[in-house]
Amino acid sequence: MMRSMPLELTAPDISAYRQSNVGIDYVTRMDSGKPGPHVVVQALTHGNELCGALTLDYLFQQNIRPMRGVLSFIFANVAAYGLWDPANPDGNRYVEEDLNRVWADDVLKGPRDSVELRRARELVAYIDTADFLLDLHSMSAPSSPLMVCGVRPQGGQKSVNLSAQIGLPEWLMMDTGHPSGLRMIERGAFGDPAKHNAAILLEAGQHWERASDQIARETSLRFLKVTGAVDAQWADARCNLPTPVQKVVQVTQGYTARSLEFHWLAEYNGLEVIEKAGTALAHDQDHILRTPYDNAVLVMPTRSKRFSVGNTMLRFGRIEALN
Ligand SMILES: [Zn+2]
Repeated sequence: MMRSMPLELTAPDISAYRQSNVGIDYVTRMDSGKPGPHVVVQALTHGNELCGALTLDYLFQQNIRPMRGVLSFIFANVAAYGLWDPANPDGNRYVEEDLNRVWADDVLKGPRDSVELRRARELVAYIDTADFLLDLHSMSAPSSPLMVCGVRPQGGQKSVNLSAQIGLPEWLMMDTGHPSGLRMIERGAFGDPAKHNAAILLEAGQHWERASDQIARETSLRFLKVTGAVDAQWADARCNLPTPVQKVVQVTQGYTARSLEFHWLAEYNGLEVIEKAGTALAHDQDHILRTPYDNAVLVMPTRSKRFSVGNTMLRFGRIEALN
């Protein structure tokens, strides 16, 4: 059932970006000297998601400079990225635990330790100074790209509004949070509707497909343009993708694996709309996963072979109006 995905991208050498001007390895701060927001683009929250590293490498090579405010680039889970092995491209999402599930203060300030917690503790105070943040990711299945916009009563609507200004990608997703831990885009002021700070998470497509590189790069350029970090002409000259009519999917529920025997009954890539409630999608030991309602949108089915009991395998959503 599971076909392995071809590697169309090459992991860039990022060692030149280790040297930091703020004392945190792989964090680069560029200050225009003029008033303006702190705009952050982060890559490699997950170690095997190459499009973010390629995007930041590209922007550095373009000699990017902010025209106002402060622009920062962060390579997040560099320990996991260092384990990249093209022969086992599923093997280095993280070293010990998922870096994007540890961003609640009680976890960061708690007694637990891991490679990822140490990195999050290094980064968190810096992340909390961001006015606008774009976190670059990719997916295990060859889904169309989508923007993860957080949770509606918290920061979700701010993230949808920012994504609408950016104009990419076509699909914007609001969800119900992650049951196994707080994501970076939801923490602090990002998740507070009374604050202006907004964070978005791009899932640029399948981890190793060439198209994910272009989506991540052009979404980043448009993000830098709409936040005022770079000149519009500078950004536009580097963009070629058309602006789609955007759609919002509100995720209503997720499904977590009950056993390691979980397997899909067909090849789902994500963003399929399944007409009938009760349609069987997967077997999970003696349980059958079925669509909960008519016209359910399948969001980010996990196609990775590396999953554990309790991992989210799929989310269900409904299409909503943009505003
Ligand atoms: Zn990711």
